[in-house]
Amino acid sequence: MTAPNLSFEFFPPKTEAQQRQLWRTYGTLETLNPSFVSVTWGALGAESQPSLDLVGALTRETSIPVVAHLACSGMTEADAHRALDQLGAMGVKRILALRGDADSADAAGKPRQLRHATDLMELIARRGDFKMSVAAYPEVHPESDSVEDDIEWLARKAELGATDAVTQFFFDTDGFLRWRDAVTRRGVDLKIVPGILPIGDIEKVCRFASSCGANVPDAMIKRFHEVENHADRTRLAIDVAAEMCTRLHAEGIEQFHIYTLNRSGLTFALANALGVTREVNPAAAPIAA
Ligand code: FAD
Repeated sequence: MTAPNLSFEFFPPKTEAQQRQLWRTYGTLETLNPSFVSVTWGALGAESQPSLDLVGALTRETSIPVVAHLACSGMTEADAHRALDQLGAMGVKRILALRGDADSADAAGKPRQLRHATDLMELIARRGDFKMSVAAYPEVHPESDSVEDDIEWLARKAELGATDAVTQFFFDTDGFLRWRDAVTRRGVDLKIVPGILPIGDIEKVCRFASSCGANVPDAMIKRFHEVENHADRTRLAIDVAAEMCTRLHAEGIEQFHIYTLNRSGLTFALANALGVTREVNPAAAPIAA
């Protein structure tokens, strides 16, 4: 079996030390020839400049396609156009269209806010100058009433022109496959790209997962707790992620999006375990960013 395609998520660094760390990470991971890299967007408009700065630096100084996340919560249509104009001028061709955190401060009299990713997508579709990816939730978005509702909104996102859905991270491979099959049965025409989070720190991942509605199976937590030293935990993190990806690859998944947390170690080792090395570059990107 050929190696899968990989892509990597980065977030904007806040300090100079984080900045240096990010560029070291980028330098290591770009040698794996990822299909694209993506840059997260601060929610509610508060932290948009660091995202724009990082996207600008990556598009100027590197050759891997950059997918820009854009979270519309709290934005007016004019805000969204401004951000898209800036991203377009930087050479970005694909947007990961998102809502971000729900906007609770929606004062009366404010200009019309974009409330959902679909509102942003309608605006992008009207402009016609970007390709679109979206987010998806194999374990259901925490605000959804049911998995069926969630899949209906995903279907709407496909109708609005998205070609790919990158998922929230998850650790229940069987559950992911059941969800993928339900999406396929509903006839949703989207390429599903699993988001993979290698478990660098099981306690942190458990806290993060509960805030995102992702389940960390007890058996997995037990596996990490049984391992004493750092090197063995690192090995286990790579093995667990590689087991998931290998199984999913055998089930027809061709692309994985790795949440790098701006660190190269686990991501690079995972890539190698999947047969993606400096020497063996994956096939040309099926997601044209
Ligand atoms: P939506 O699609 O708006 O969905 C939110 C909820 O509303 C769901 O329950 C959905 O079923 C429902 N829904 C969807 N459309 C409608 C509609 N039209 N009418 C009524 N209900 C609807 N957050 C950031 O702030 N910045 C990032 O860079 C970022 N990157 C992410 C990348 C990935 C791959 C993922 C999976 C998440 C990311 N997030 C990011 C988090 C994301 O913003 C949150 O999960 C947010 O709560 C939902 O975003 P969404 O785009 O899925 O929202």
